[in-house]
Amino acid sequence: MGLMERLPEILNAFEQALELERELGTRTVECDRALLAPVSAPVAARVDARPPASAATSAAAPALGQRVSRPLTAPNPEPRTTNPDPRTTNPEPRPTNHALPTAAELSACTRCDLHGLGRTHVVPGQGNADSPDFMFVGEAPGADEDRQGLAFVGAAGQFLTKMIAAMGYTRDQVFIANICKCRPPNNRTPSPPEMAACVPYLKRQIALVRPKCLILLGNTAMRGLFPDAFVRRGQWQTYEGIPAIGTFHPAYILRFDSARDPAGLRKAKLEVWDTLKLALARLGKKPPEIKKKGQTT
Ligand code: URA
Repeated sequence: MGLMERLPEILNAFEQALELERELGTRTVECDRALLAPVSAPVAARVDARPPASAATSAAAPALGQRVSRPLTAPNPEPRTTNPDPRTTNPEPRPTNHALPTAAELSACTRCDLHGLGRTHVVPGQGNADSPDFMFVGEAPGADEDRQGLAFVGAAGQFLTKMIAAMGYTRDQVFIANICKCRPPNNRTPSPPEMAACVPYLKRQIALVRPKCLILLGNTAMRGLFPDAFVRRGQWQTYEGIPAIGTFHPAYILRFDSARDPAGLRKAKLEVWDTLKLALARLGKKPPEIKKKGQTT
């Protein structure tokens, strides 16, 4: 088969490779236009015909042979007009794979070793997938989550439920997910390669769910989404245009309880509550008022 006949297949493979890079966090690629020279003009035109990231990039078309850095955009971003988004802060195109990762998809995943290390169920995450106010991101499933295939349903999950309720929401109104979708043996912290292998699934969830604010529970969640930054608890970051803030993992809070350290418990809870209030304020909201005893309205 000649080069021209194989071209669609080659372009498809190239597109898939770029998409994988994009999922892994690469935002620019270097390409040498001279490489495209042997390919016929209509094909080169097709490559160039991708929607430019901005008027500025399209205005400065590089000459043949000039090395260019091109933003990696999804090959076929959905036009915004078909899916109006009331928020203006997150103009990222949706990813090419337009479906949330399902248990079936994740069960077939072999990107890291966790699939073969004793997990029972994968845990994709669950909740309101239609641009909820908040998405909570944890570390990885524990024993209860692994048994049920649902995120945050054990003791840490019960504490998270209380946090969500204190903010004036139910679990169904927010989205809850993890950096890793499989339980690491003995609930150990996922390794950096395990996190890197799994985080593209979370990134796809964030891009599709489009939460208005991300709340990152614990160091693994903060490191997973911001591997190159030193993220401090209670300080705002931006992930793909979405405000993100980190706080203690609920399991960390519960440790003060088991250690019978009421002062430590109180201090950690207050810090979490301050962060949750910051997150509410970021969306122009306040926590619901606590009714005093005997108050009916
Ligand atoms: N801890 C997590 O980080 N995630 C869960 O789903 C449960 C416990």
